[in-house]
Amino acid sequence: MNSVYFNLSFDDVHPESSGDGTDCGGDRDGGVFRYFPRLLRKCPELKITLFVTPNWIDKANDSFFLRNMKRIFGMKYFNTWVGEPFLLTKHKDWCSWLNSFKNIEVAVHGYSHHADRKLHSQEFQDMGYNDCRERLMSAERVFKDAGLNYVKGFRPPGWGISDGLFEALKDLKYDFISLDSVACNVGDLSRYKVEDYRGLWNVPQNWDIARGTIDEALEILEKYGLLMAKGHISDYYDGERIGNGLNGVTFGRLCELFERMKDKKSCFVSMKEIARRMA
Ligand SMILES: [Zn+2]
Repeated sequence: MNSVYFNLSFDDVHPESSGDGTDCGGDRDGGVFRYFPRLLRKCPELKITLFVTPNWIDKANDSFFLRNMKRIFGMKYFNTWVGEPFLLTKHKDWCSWLNSFKNIEVAVHGYSHHADRKLHSQEFQDMGYNDCRERLMSAERVFKDAGLNYVKGFRPPGWGISDGLFEALKDLKYDFISLDSVACNVGDLSRYKVEDYRGLWNVPQNWDIARGTIDEALEILEKYGLLMAKGHISDYYDGERIGNGLNGVTFGRLCELFERMKDKKSCFVSMKEIARRMA
């Protein structure tokens, strides 16, 4: 029997708590993170990849009315957190707590997760090489200064990409990228396989923890030998529905999936491990 590979990943992790607005990890074991020990009890070998943003400032766009008022009065059009409240160097204790999870790897999810445009979460969309390189270096500097262990893997915020981004990631010797070929609108990239894309190993996301069915997950495993399950840490953010957060429902679906994978020879891997295995 051939081995099948499995990884579970979550986007948008940062130290914001429900007291700030949304629990994106900041509530620690009292919030969404309580599901991680439970998942590991069901599946002790499980490896989880968290895509963390080192200085999250993104908020939803202002309302139509406010946007127009701001435009008329020449004010800043877009909405962001003021004062960099979630800069990781201000949350060193949270970072060392995150380091204590043995089965979790942290990878890079942008610098601020924000761009001043309508698709406000697409930080790197159409960005040139120099700016991409600088942002990636800033992101890594914050991780280092905050003492958070991380791997050189990258998933683009809001799926916004650019030629400069790929070049910068390659020059900075990233081990992997993680794209969804449909969401990123790249027709020449497999949705299901780990493959070299523009000189970088792409570890895809190929199953959504809320929207994909368990039968689909098993079919993907059967056909491609690799299931890269993905969700967001929170279901809603700043009034915008994301829809695939980690909660009681998606936890239950993952437990059902683990149960139905029991007859398979499963290898639970981090994204870095699977990229290294390919290299
Ligand atoms: Zn994101």
